Amino acid sequence: MSEEECIFCKIIEGQIPSYKIYENDSLLAFLDIFPLSYGHTVVVPKKHYYNFLDMPEDDMSDFFKDLRNISALIMKKLKIDGFNLVQNNFPAAGQVIHHLHFHIIPRMKGDGPLKMIPGKIQAKEDDLKKIIQKIKE
Ligand SMILES: [Zn+2]
Repeated sequence: MSEEECIFCKIIEGQIPSYKIYENDSLLAFLDIFPLSYGHTVVVPKKHYYNFLDMPEDDMSDFFKDLRNISALIMKKLKIDGFNLVQNNFPAAGQVIHHLHFHIIPRMKGDGPLKMIPGKIQAKEDDLKKIIQKIKE
């Protein structure tokens, strides 16, 4: 998959709309429209790296600080009890979109073990807007 065809690059460039949680010069966090849980967020570097092995070491420090801060923001604003950080590399591991991305999957007490079954039910626009409002409050 080339950069031109990459759905995440298109989201980053604004060609495809998204529900943005946070954005800076180097990364974007937006709501997954096929969420595994309430507030499921995808965090992507703005540069098109294929996967984790492709990310230069120099970019890692800032990226992970931001990833932690975004996780903390979701934790606080959505009043969740915990979250899973999930990142898939190569199709054998379930990587579908070939642009490095991390999933922040909010969890509540009693949710049980995480089942990484891709979301089949598209989130309602209204619900996504409400989540964004809560984050921005
Ligand atoms: Zn891309």
